[in-house]
Amino acid sequence: NKQIILRDYVSGFPKESDFEFTTTTVELRAPEGSKSLLVKNLYLSCDPYMRSRMGKPAASGIAQAFTVGKPIIGFGVSRVIESGHPDYKKGDLIWGIVGWEEYSVVTPIPDMHFKIHDTDVPLSYYTGLLGMPGMTAYAGFYEICSPKKGETVYVSAASGAVGQLVGQFAKMMGCYVVGSAGSQEKVDLLKTKFGFDDAFNYKEEQDLSAALKRCFPKGIDIYFENVGGKMLDAVLLNMNTFGRVAVCGMISQYNLEDHEGVYNLTSIIYKRIRIQGFAVFDHYDKYSKFLELVIPSIKEGKIAYVEDVAEGLEKAPEALVGLFHGKNVGKQVVVVARE
Ligand code: NDP
Repeated sequence: NKQIILRDYVSGFPKESDFEFTTTTVELRAPEGSKSLLVKNLYLSCDPYMRSRMGKPAASGIAQAFTVGKPIIGFGVSRVIESGHPDYKKGDLIWGIVGWEEYSVVTPIPDMHFKIHDTDVPLSYYTGLLGMPGMTAYAGFYEICSPKKGETVYVSAASGAVGQLVGQFAKMMGCYVVGSAGSQEKVDLLKTKFGFDDAFNYKEEQDLSAALKRCFPKGIDIYFENVGGKMLDAVLLNMNTFGRVAVCGMISQYNLEDHEGVYNLTSIIYKRIRIQGFAVFDHYDKYSKFLELVIPSIKEGKIAYVEDVAEGLEKAPEALVGLFHGKNVGKQVVVVARE
């Protein structure tokens, strides 16, 4: 069983050398009545929150720290090889938390493992668009942003797994949508593929507030926050009265020992801004409703989706580390096996 092991707890930016690609020969089983499954992992998902699991246990965020010397874990799409669970049978497809390895033994947990029913779409989509990041975009936009037709929406890290879908939901709602990303290629993608009204490369802007003023001469009603730090500060200066900020993530801060300060906080009072953090796992009760909206939209070509695919488990550390340098163009997926 080939695996990706955490060598030691990570501080600062994660490096490929923090992980080791190894092979074990332990025989894996899912005995009858054990309620566990032996699964073959097909696709693995690289997600920014995984950084919080790489630090020492006390330093990790909501999710528990990885164990040094053990395979790291994350979302994946897998096929059941053996089942000791009455609700699953050999051949079923699932998505959810598995080890970063070829085969895993998992005990399905509600809201952490989901049976895949619609296989009429590429299976890798269940690591992104149809999985955790897609649900994040859905819950974050529709539940937390309280959007209305005609409002102005700004999305940071907009070409990523979550951002590309938030922008498309906002367009479907009839909003004016601007995204930012870290390269010209991504900016072009936002405008041509995902239908954003405008986009800019934040790395090329001297003054982020001026860039936002240029894109939003009448101000921002909704900010879907993925990056934090200086961007949040600039956004606060450009928010409209009674604007909403859905705090989904702050990737610019995840690798810093000392987080950057945010200074323009008085805007929250003057403009009566609602800033609300949220976590996707509080919202899985809406998962089937989400699929009912998104699956037909994919099939009808109304929702576009871009993946960045790394081939082979051995490429997984490079792909994961790349997220924190913006190397991924679209959702970062690792193919372990295609069937
Ligand atoms: P992405 O696919 O967007 O990948 C991460 C992207 O973040 C990179 O490609 C890069 O794009 C950008 N980035 C990296 N470093 C920085 C930096 N220092 N400053 C600004 N941008 C940076 O990831 P996801 O779509 O999966 O996740 C987006 C956000 O949503 C993350 O913050 C994540 O933690 C959060 N999240 C929160 C969840 C929740 O439940 N609250 C659930 C899932 C995700 P670029 O080229 O634009 O710099």
